[in-house]
Amino acid sequence: FIVTDHVCKSFGSHQVLRDVSTHFSTGEVTVIIGASGSGKSTLLRAINRLEPHDSGTITIDGVVVSDDTATLQKQRCEVGMVFQQFNLFGHLSVLDNITLAPRRVRHTARAEANAQAMVLLRRVGLQEHAHKYPWQLSGGQQQRVAIARALAMNPKVMLFDEPTSALDPEMVQEVLDVMRELAHGGMTMIVVTHEMGFAREVADRVLFFDQGCIAHDAPPEAFFGNPANDRIRAFIGRMG
Ligand code: ATP
Ligand code: MG
Repeated sequence: FIVTDHVCKSFGSHQVLRDVSTHFSTGEVTVIIGASGSGKSTLLRAINRLEPHDSGTITIDGVVVSDDTATLQKQRCEVGMVFQQFNLFGHLSVLDNITLAPRRVRHTARAEANAQAMVLLRRVGLQEHAHKYPWQLSGGQQQRVAIARALAMNPKVMLFDEPTSALDPEMVQEVLDVMRELAHGGMTMIVVTHEMGFAREVADRVLFFDQGCIAHDAPPEAFFGNPANDRIRAFIGRMG
């Protein structure tokens, strides 16, 4: 569904993505792991065009990612993104956070957008909190709202960039549970995370990033059961 072909990206003289060629198939859950600075976030940001790449091509559903405004707008609807910092709008209620994009971008009527938002809030276990503001929620609850907000545009793929890294430990599981449900529902997902348990259980594929390259690409059983080299073995050891 998403194909990256020889994608390169530098910041000044620092090459952050080196010839990244891979694909993410429909319905597949890919977990990306790797050291800090290895380029994981940059790849997700390039897919969403938050950070243009220098060379190579990225295609989403057969359409090349570029700066063409109409294409970009369509692709941004197809690709949902959840960040480490939840980035909710602080002055809007939970419900309004979720309905904002459908109403503005899709011109969905308020009543219909609200009804869809309530379905999503039920899915993430927060139907009781629709009229609260972000500051009234825990970190885990805010992140679940952020997931619901991304889903409100009915995306074909969801990108997660360390969605649990900013959470207190006791809130990590509730967010992972929502992501697991989403995966079981067939969503195409690319997840950057340090949660090795999630990778083992939920991923179809694990990519190991090292200095801007995909150093290894394997199903979780092989990735964790029989690490390809000492660097990966050491990384898994550190992450638990
Ligand atoms: P982490 O695990 O810490 O999130 P990462 O694998 O996501 O790391 P990236 O955020 O993709 O790594 O960053 C890769 C490299 O690019 C880092 O060395 C980072 O400092 C650099 N970098 C990222 N964004 C920019 C930017 N906007 N300008 C300059 N350098 C950047
Ligand atoms: Mg990152």
